[in-house]
Amino acid sequence: MRCTVADSLDEDFYTTVVKEVYERIGPDLESELRFVVVEDEEDCEKIVSESDTEEGLLEVCEESGSSSFSVSDKSYVLIVTEDRFSKDNLKALEGLIAHELMHSVQREEGLEDEIEDVAVSFSDTVVRELEERGVSPEDSVDFISDVMGTMIFCLKDLYVNTELVEAGFSEELASYYRLILDTEGLVSAPEIYSNDENLGEVEEALKFVLEFLPAWIPFRRDDARGGDIEESIRQGYEANIPLTSDSINRISELYLEEFGRSEEFMNKFFEKLLSLSYRVMDDKLD
Ligand SMILES: [Zn+2]
Repeated sequence: MRCTVADSLDEDFYTTVVKEVYERIGPDLESELRFVVVEDEEDCEKIVSESDTEEGLLEVCEESGSSSFSVSDKSYVLIVTEDRFSKDNLKALEGLIAHELMHSVQREEGLEDEIEDVAVSFSDTVVRELEERGVSPEDSVDFISDVMGTMIFCLKDLYVNTELVEAGFSEELASYYRLILDTEGLVSAPEIYSNDENLGEVEEALKFVLEFLPAWIPFRRDDARGGDIEESIRQGYEANIPLTSDSINRISELYLEEFGRSEEFMNKFFEKLLSLSYRVMDDKLD
């Protein structure tokens, strides 16, 4: 494992935290692992320009912020601090690092490929169902590429966070999500009840749910932390909770009863989420 910290940051502080989390989660990884810790995009450019072979890193940094990805056989964990972390909220930083590192672990185990395979075959069903609802093929292609992408992200995060909670990272993870919820909110709440009738709105509503699902559901068995996070979400998005809490309850039930790495669970998860968007759609398109 190699860890590169941008010059603008406290190298000792970040290297120590990365190492600690790595020892708890990642020492069995087979692929070559590189951590890159930067404050912002500009830092990324400086680090990457030192090596011509890491252009993929710059692209990810510009597009996604903190993330985990692989280039050839190398696994990268990119942490973009955005000036949010210090010794005072160390747990939140550990939560973010653990989250991204767990993506690397699960990708190496083949879980991400399985999710993507299930999603691809599921998309075919969606095309047919949208057609039955009178959605034009062009619109449905846009809808699917956008919504399925978000659903895949959501499911990956759900697997990551569940495993982290089981591995004893509840406190770190909850600290991280609380930091996000308190400072910026996960996403801006969509105007689900406006008069503008289009698929874009259904997408927004669904994405809204998907954004905070992985931040909440894995804590459902942990009353203290789950309740805390639920409260943060409620405060931030009160106006939209009637729609979302009902849908979330259904998904949460499925999670509590059937969560697992099976194709069956993945399919059911996609189905439940999509039936939510159909409900929004039917309300809008009737
Ligand atoms: Zn993630």
